[in-house]
Amino acid sequence: MTQQTTGHSGTHPDDGVPQPIRGDEGATILGPRNVPLERENPNLLVPPTTDSGTVPNLKFSYAAARNRVLTGGWAREVTTRELPVAKELSGVDMRLKPGGIRELHWHKEAEWAYMLAGRARITLVDQEGRNFIDDVGEGDLWYFPAGLPHSIQGLEEGCEFLLVFDSGDFSENETFLITDWFAHTPPEVLAKNFGVSEGAFADTPVDYEHSRYVFAGKVPGPLDEDAVDSPAGAVPQTFSHRMLAQEPIKVAGGQVRITDSSNFPVSKTIAAALVEVEPGGMRELHWHPNADEWQYYLAGKGRMTVFASGGKARTFDYQAGDVGYVPFAMGHYVENTGEETLRFLEMFRSDHYADVSLKQWMALTPPELVRAHLNLDEQTIAALSKEKPIIVREHMAR
Ligand code: MN
Ligand code: MN
Repeated sequence: MTQQTTGHSGTHPDDGVPQPIRGDEGATILGPRNVPLERENPNLLVPPTTDSGTVPNLKFSYAAARNRVLTGGWAREVTTRELPVAKELSGVDMRLKPGGIRELHWHKEAEWAYMLAGRARITLVDQEGRNFIDDVGEGDLWYFPAGLPHSIQGLEEGCEFLLVFDSGDFSENETFLITDWFAHTPPEVLAKNFGVSEGAFADTPVDYEHSRYVFAGKVPGPLDEDAVDSPAGAVPQTFSHRMLAQEPIKVAGGQVRITDSSNFPVSKTIAAALVEVEPGGMRELHWHPNADEWQYYLAGKGRMTVFASGGKARTFDYQAGDVGYVPFAMGHYVENTGEETLRFLEMFRSDHYADVSLKQWMALTPPELVRAHLNLDEQTIAALSKEKPIIVREHMAR
């Protein structure tokens, strides 16, 4: 069984508490310790012996992120401040109560979103004055291009979603809010702009502390009642996508759905895969030739070793609510180490999804050439696959 040979932590014979002991190496912890955190990270406490060298941290849990708790819900973010290596993408986990409103706003980065639970109404207006108003539910995506104004509002059941931005330096606390702009524009300018008296703005919020950001609101009525006709018409392409409604690519150990600009055309800067790995299964050894990978774990438990070249490799454990990261081109696998299906999202700052399979690469290279490197026997060469396995099952002992 792989778990014994690859370094899961030893336990004290008496109390079952994990200890950094591997055979004759290591010793019990005598000082202060955080046992629950050590249990969650067995591959940090006792790394596989194949781990080596200094690889930056590639994990941050939303449970350790600062939360902004507000009348309409809450929001917590994982950016370069939390996970410095994650320069290409960042993410926000946001909850809106029934009727709760993410204020009308825009930002410099594009926004991609996956609805985790519940339903929301989203709105957007583009530079041609065309509008988009839609309702989204669990497993749906949206994509708002950089600079275009939008909003999100929780429907009857409220909602929670993951937002992913195409810059690691993004901050949800630095977006262009409509109330913030009103508060910082001279009243006579507002009066002139809107063609009304200054008194019309007497009740608008007056400083940033009082800007709405995420605030309580009334649940809106049916979608058609919220329709606003634009003389320029509706947007030519949809800004939402039903990812869970896509037919998955089914393979031996699980299934995958891929969404990028080929099936969700507006999503020009973010490509994604929703991966489901059955117990005992593993997302195969692979890498991505186009971008860093930003991961969000939806369910189950897994571990990933990232091969960073130059003899460096490091293994991390992940569970629901964790963010993982793989810098550009680094080799990796994601193994289901739990009892339930491991579900996670992979996001890339790219218009297309791309990966290279180690197994397929070797299968499509002259066997003598491959053998000269690795001294593999006939049986192992024969087990290579010219088709990308994507996910593999636990191997059969032979
Ligand atoms: Mn936004
Ligand atoms: Mn990957």
